Amino acid sequence: MTHTMKHPVTVTVTGAAGQIGYASLFRIAAGEMLGADTPVRLRLLEIPAGLKAAEGTAMELADCAFPLVESIDVTDDPNTGFEGANLALLIGSRPRTKGMERADLLEANGGIFSVQGRAINDRAADDIKVAVVGNPANTNALIAASHAPDVPLERFTALTRLDHHRAVAQLALATGSPVDQIEGVAIWGNHSASQYPDLFHATVAGRSAVDLLTQQGLGQDWLENTFISKVANRGAEVISVRGGSSVASAAHAALMHVHDWVLGTGESWTSMAVPSDGSYGVAEGIISSFPVRCTGGVYEIIHGLEHSDFSQKRIAASVAELVEEKQAVASLGLLGPR
Ligand code: NDP
Repeated sequence: MTHTMKHPVTVTVTGAAGQIGYASLFRIAAGEMLGADTPVRLRLLEIPAGLKAAEGTAMELADCAFPLVESIDVTDDPNTGFEGANLALLIGSRPRTKGMERADLLEANGGIFSVQGRAINDRAADDIKVAVVGNPANTNALIAASHAPDVPLERFTALTRLDHHRAVAQLALATGSPVDQIEGVAIWGNHSASQYPDLFHATVAGRSAVDLLTQQGLGQDWLENTFISKVANRGAEVISVRGGSSVASAAHAALMHVHDWVLGTGESWTSMAVPSDGSYGVAEGIISSFPVRCTGGVYEIIHGLEHSDFSQKRIAASVAELVEEKQAVASLGLLGPR
């Protein structure tokens, strides 16, 4: 390693033996998340049932002889897993299985994310940043944050970057333009079917996306009935075509969420689910997706955007779902002291 290398970063990945964990770890190790000048110390956290498979993943990581990897540790103890962590990707969660009620799912995940929140509170480094991928991601992030009162609230975020990428991809397809010409797409609300992918501030090569789409005969009807449902239901579409859930694209989104948070977006926007500051009528006390810009390791919500009645209603509907989820986990006693 040369003297130009940065200080090593400790990255904890939960659900490390799962599909998204497996698709993420090798790219993190290769430097695609934090850059080719940042060594990483990898912590693979699993539940006991996943421990052996995580050890197998660690063997493969070692066999890659990645120059950036300083250490690889596997554990099923959250306190050990988050010890000194600078970044945490909370990917592992309890999937909904047959016969499971919504409350059962929230409760099972509440158990996981409250324990992890406490361990992060007690053991992680002072600069810890948390990105929750495991669903229901926004509410899982809220549960973890509520159990970590000593960690600044804004360090808890959830993934809506895959929804953001899906929206960019659909806009590129509809306008026949390369993705790198697209700016200003935003995902609002919950990472669920109620999310609002918003093109009203988007541009394609500097021109209003909505004007371009309208010229092509793709008006409000296309936005409401084709685009939004395409983005919101893309996960199910991938399952039906691929025969398995979206894994590589979810892993990519998780990496880019952290990449941009740490290394910056420049002038561009991205979308992240972050604790609401009350703007746009989004209730404070929930973790909801907003357009953000990141600089120097800090994200800031893009303020001052004008919304049509249609956009306002869509955002309010998704926010209402998040408020309900919060009430449900609160009534199950899953929220912590924050
Ligand atoms: P995956 O790796 O495929 O998915 C992990 C989580 O990511 C799921 O909750 C999934 O939610 C969520 N997710 C978020 N966005 C997407 C997306 N776009 N597409 C698909 N999934 C998405 O699950 P596996 O079952 O393969 O692996 C989970 C692993 O987590 C297991 O190894 C298990 O042992 C582990 N685990 C670890 C825990 C811990 O470290 N404490 C706790 C619980 C589990 P959904 O499927 O609902 O959409």
